[in-house]
Amino acid sequence: MIVAIDGPAGSGKSSTARLLAKKLGFIYLDTGSMYRAIALLFQRLGIEPGDSRIAEILDTTCIEIRYDEGVMHVLLDEEDVSDSIRSTAITELSSRISTIDVVREKLVAEQRRMAMMCEQDGGGVVMEGRDIGTVVFPDAEIKFFLVADASERARRRLLQYEESGIDADYDQILADIVDRDIRDTSRKNSPLKQAEDAKVIDTTHLSFDEQVTIMEAAIRERRH
Ligand code: C5P
Repeated sequence: MIVAIDGPAGSGKSSTARLLAKKLGFIYLDTGSMYRAIALLFQRLGIEPGDSRIAEILDTTCIEIRYDEGVMHVLLDEEDVSDSIRSTAITELSSRISTIDVVREKLVAEQRRMAMMCEQDGGGVVMEGRDIGTVVFPDAEIKFFLVADASERARRRLLQYEESGIDADYDQILADIVDRDIRDTSRKNSPLKQAEDAKVIDTTHLSFDEQVTIMEAAIRERRH
């Protein structure tokens, strides 16, 4: 079973998907982390969108997801980059490089391959991102589209940064979120949009527990 969760930055996708996967005994796959790993690679190599070397570099790059005691780790050519991809610079760059066609082709193929392997093992996957229900798995058994007011999303992001000890400013976070929303929804390739058959959950006024409970109930109903 594939559970697809899409939505804009800060709508609560990651934390919700992680807990849902745990409750259901499914694998959790955060596809944004894969775009972030490519952004980190480009940052290190000084590559900007439009660089003619991108396709060649991607061909020789390996992005892998591994799980250690249930915790997802992202590997860039065998190096665990799970922490380094969370900086504000990588957040911004990942949004810009996710508009590149060859980047999306590579990562979408990898996401399908990983889900296929889980399904072959008889397991389920909770996959979250921007294009899971529309492009990666248009036939997913259940799809959610999470939304929340930009100001609430910025407030949540600020809390996350504070908890991770990263210096951040609310107004800057809000401006970044609005910028990312515009880029994610207006790009030509796989823009962020709600799949017609997705359940829309507005999390602005929901507590985390409430949103997880609503989604878990919908998934369990779908399974029976
Ligand atoms: O979800 P997260 O904020 O970590 O994703 C980082 C960036 O990767 C997003 O700003 C988005 O532009 C891009 N992304 C994407 N498609 C996905 C997941 C993430 O374009 N499926």
